[in-house]
Amino acid sequence: MNTAANVLFADMNKNKTTQPPIVTVIRYDICNYEMDSTCSGIPSDAVNKLLDIIQYTGWECTDCRINSQQKIDKLQAALTLVNEKLSDLMATVDNIQQITAGHTENDNVVSKTDIK
Ligand SMILES: [Zn+2]
Repeated sequence: MNTAANVLFADMNKNKTTQPPIVTVIRYDICNYEMDSTCSGIPSDAVNKLLDIIQYTGWECTDCRINSQQKIDKLQAALTLVNEKLSDLMATVDNIQQITAGHTENDNVVSKTDIK
């Protein structure tokens, strides 16, 4: 997990003489949505504690939490189907190899240049 790398800090006050708050941007791990700490209404000390925690736990929105599981379920179902098709295909290839081997042993008619 590289959550720590997904947490960006931006100081928007470099060219100003006043002392506006430092903006912390938290990027969601799955959808890459960025939450601006000053717009979220979360106090800055709470944001700092949050950053300490999410570097280990990750950070995701409710939509991603729900939809990701559904996507994983669909991918697993699709992978099962692909495995079944692959198994059928391998069985067909085995049959073709056996037939081809039988022909080359018996009559030596088939050569590599005959296969297009
Ligand atoms: Zn999300």
